[in-house]
Amino acid sequence: MGSGQVTSSEPFDFQGKHVTVAGLGVSGVPAAKVLHGLGATVTVVNDGADERARAQAAELEALGITVRLGDGDTLPEGTELIVTAPGWKPDKPLFAAAAQAGVPVWGDVELAWRLRGPDAAPWLAVTGTNGKTTTVQMLASILKAAGLRTAAVGNIGVSLLDAVLGEEKYDVLAVELSSYQLHWAPSLRAHSAAVLNLAPDHLDWHGSMEAYAADKGRIYEGNRVACVYNVADKATEDLVREADVEEGCRAIGFTLGTPAPSQLGVVEGILVDRAFVENRQKNAQELAEVADVNPPAPHNIANALAAAALARAYGVPAKAVRDGLRAFTPDAHRIAHVADVDGVAYVDDSKATNTHAAEASLAAYESIVWIAGGLAKGAVFDELVAKAAQRLRGAVLIGADRALIREALARHAPEVPVVDLDRTDTGAMRAAVQEARRLARPGDTVLLAPACASMDMFVNYNKRGDAFADAVRELGSAEG
Ligand code: ADP
Repeated sequence: MGSGQVTSSEPFDFQGKHVTVAGLGVSGVPAAKVLHGLGATVTVVNDGADERARAQAAELEALGITVRLGDGDTLPEGTELIVTAPGWKPDKPLFAAAAQAGVPVWGDVELAWRLRGPDAAPWLAVTGTNGKTTTVQMLASILKAAGLRTAAVGNIGVSLLDAVLGEEKYDVLAVELSSYQLHWAPSLRAHSAAVLNLAPDHLDWHGSMEAYAADKGRIYEGNRVACVYNVADKATEDLVREADVEEGCRAIGFTLGTPAPSQLGVVEGILVDRAFVENRQKNAQELAEVADVNPPAPHNIANALAAAALARAYGVPAKAVRDGLRAFTPDAHRIAHVADVDGVAYVDDSKATNTHAAEASLAAYESIVWIAGGLAKGAVFDELVAKAAQRLRGAVLIGADRALIREALARHAPEVPVVDLDRTDTGAMRAAVQEARRLARPGDTVLLAPACASMDMFVNYNKRGDAFADAVRELGSAEG
């Protein structure tokens, strides 16, 4: 694709350049404004022409930017560079036209990378199928505990453009990158980077698992100090091996087991570093206790180790790792403990929108009443259900694609009682929680880990989690 054509990261002079911004929205509008401000002649193309798009177009047109609504596929005459919204699929005709015309394509991350100043803060970058936001926030918390000026940027918090162009000065940035963003970021070179895990996701966008993995793997290209991989997920280590990195850059693994040299891991409830220590054949540095990680679920310990590895690659002392992890609280709807009712814990992991995330969540509890279902996005549930079967007290299914989960349960966990709610209305969550309560025994966990997207029933996963929490609180107050 066109993105492959720009490999140098030389400063780019935008003055008088014809730049097409593909897609209005969160990244497109600010990108258009910045480019216009740099003297480029900017045209924005957008597929839709709804009310929101028209309002955004009016705002940009008032600045002198041309906007073409309802046609995102025609390459404007004279285009010298496309800056695309990361979500735009590589097989769109616009990009075929760009490739034919020899026009490079950058995403929002590439643009930010190119616009950063000469003494810009280095990037510690994180990608993976799941755990990105959490890990980047943990990393920022650790860097702050070390007294560094930093921010969690990317899909969260501060936008990348603001981080590189804003008033605020940073020593180092903790950057979350999606596979889409990496696809369109050919010249990005991080100080150090981590791929947390790799499970099939967004394959319709990337075209294949290989293409998805290759885009994730771009995060390691040109790393200077460390490429951090997951020892339990060989695909991430393979990506490190394939990456072209700076001389002296090290491969650093993280593991929930005892770490080998050049790894971070766990020994008797302690997070330890056997990578960034003197004489790593013999020595290990204690970083923190498992109990310092919130919540101390296995996948979250893995996130903490990845964050610690990046921070240590940057030279952060061990104590800051502990202090930063202690200071970290996860965002809402990520394994959030809502309440205990009748000795049963109710946990909201509405953010578990795919099977890989739900698998991690289910692995964190011994005896579970599982609330699941929604939009499956083409997922297959057999492996997830087979792995969780031993831990399931029962399951309550909601949402459009619940039959897929019901069938998987029938195949791999036939003894587990299942309540199929046959409802997709918003009130169904209340009924689901009540059913879950009937199935649960003291000591159990009622876990909302839907393994599906929420949009069949809710505006987003936040609203789904809120509905769950409201229903749980109702149970609690009914108790009196
Ligand atoms: P992302 O930004 O990649 O979507 P989040 O940190 O927001 O990741 O977590 C999303 C969900 O993924 C969480 O609710 C949890 O269920 C699951 N999760 C978090 N970390 C991991 C991990 N390391 N491995 C597997 N699943 C995870």
